[in-house]
Amino acid sequence: MPDKKKIEGELRRERVLYKAKNGYELISADEEKDVEQISAQYKAFLNNGKTERECVDLAVRMAEGLSFKPFTRGSALKAGDAIYSVNRGKYVILTRIGREPLSAGLNVIASHIDVPRIDLKTNPLYEDSKLAYFKTHYYGGIRKHQWPAIPLELRGVVAKKDGTVLRIDVGSRPEDPVLMITDLLPHLAADQAKKVLSEAFTGEDLNVLLGSRPAAGDEGEERVKLAVMELLHGRYGVTERDFASAELSLVPAFPARDVGLDSSMIGGYGHDDRVCGFTSLRAILDAPAPARTALCVLADKEEIGSEGVSGMKSFFFDTFVGDLCAAQGGSLNECYENSCCLSADVTVAFDPNFPEVSDKRNNAHLNYGLGITKYTGTRGKGGSSDASAELVARIRRVFDEGGVLWQMGPLGKVDQGGGGTVAMYMANRNIDTIDAGVPVLSMHSPFEVVGKLDTYMAYKGFKAFYASKP
Ligand code: MN
Ligand code: MN
Repeated sequence: MPDKKKIEGELRRERVLYKAKNGYELISADEEKDVEQISAQYKAFLNNGKTERECVDLAVRMAEGLSFKPFTRGSALKAGDAIYSVNRGKYVILTRIGREPLSAGLNVIASHIDVPRIDLKTNPLYEDSKLAYFKTHYYGGIRKHQWPAIPLELRGVVAKKDGTVLRIDVGSRPEDPVLMITDLLPHLAADQAKKVLSEAFTGEDLNVLLGSRPAAGDEGEERVKLAVMELLHGRYGVTERDFASAELSLVPAFPARDVGLDSSMIGGYGHDDRVCGFTSLRAILDAPAPARTALCVLADKEEIGSEGVSGMKSFFFDTFVGDLCAAQGGSLNECYENSCCLSADVTVAFDPNFPEVSDKRNNAHLNYGLGITKYTGTRGKGGSSDASAELVARIRRVFDEGGVLWQMGPLGKVDQGGGGTVAMYMANRNIDTIDAGVPVLSMHSPFEVVGKLDTYMAYKGFKAFYASKP
């Protein structure tokens, strides 16, 4: 009987070999509905949170809707309390206090909500040939050629000397105009086309087109610039000098959309790392009162090295957890020593269009589940915290017991390049830390792509992690 032989062969293999499968082959029709539900919520989050400040505001609003309260130093804490703390408007930690003391350790999920973008310089406005422009300085690792010839929104804040902070948002309403960076027409691009990609578009070329109509009733110089500045002054009360104390960014002016004829993917700006930010946020909001205290960290500045007061290297995290420990009379060191952290950041999805940069047998694949990255880094794991075998085993157990589809996913093939996350900054605090995140195609572009199933498995995995014990 050939059939019997075939089945025996399959069983023999299943016993000892591993075969990766597309997640859609493994989930039920009921669970597919959950996949769609989380994906729809996530798209709305992306459309409303285009800067880290907007993401913090959204997170706080969602948390307050579920009775989370701002934490004040010195206040008492009891099991079941749901609190949050905001760092300078750009970084937030949401916490559910567990039944066990903090000295027994935390379950932390740390992601970042800053995204590569184009920031304005501090003296950005100028006029050239009767056109007005902003000078810019890009933030994070962008591929410069991807940013001209797409619609852009202007979002951010201007801080006035009197302490008021004005929110600027040009582009979010349908009637708003958009801004853009021009590109060369192919007819005249012969010289540019001969340059290597990294030199064909320079940072100083990324000037944003703002206006073309001169101010009326004036005979002086630079009337287009004057008209643009008067417009901003009329609408927001901003003067040219105020750009010195502003954080204004150009971000893509299009919404997140389903991708693929089968709508199995989501395209949008900022998957890295708002897909992990949103799913970990949703997970802590939906988590029942945990045994171990659960923290959802949405940090800033990962894309430029986690430096500064609102990055993951900042003492803000230690101060906050220290305050929690003090409320229970426990030691911060002991708390860290017993804690566990998922550094929830996106990983690379294998791209059949660019197979040469990946190792097909080891890279994560789209919609094969949440990616676990044991180590990141460059040139022999340099700059990576490289999670221990024991920790990977623990996370495998948590995910398997929670019915979470997961896969291992390094960042490209050996010596191709690499990168980092916040993992090492958490691990350096003596917290067991491992990277886990959603695989992404076209990462760091204005329109990145994730799998809906992977997005849902991130949510499911993060929820299982919050409920887990060592
Ligand atoms: Mn990231
Ligand atoms: Mn990134």
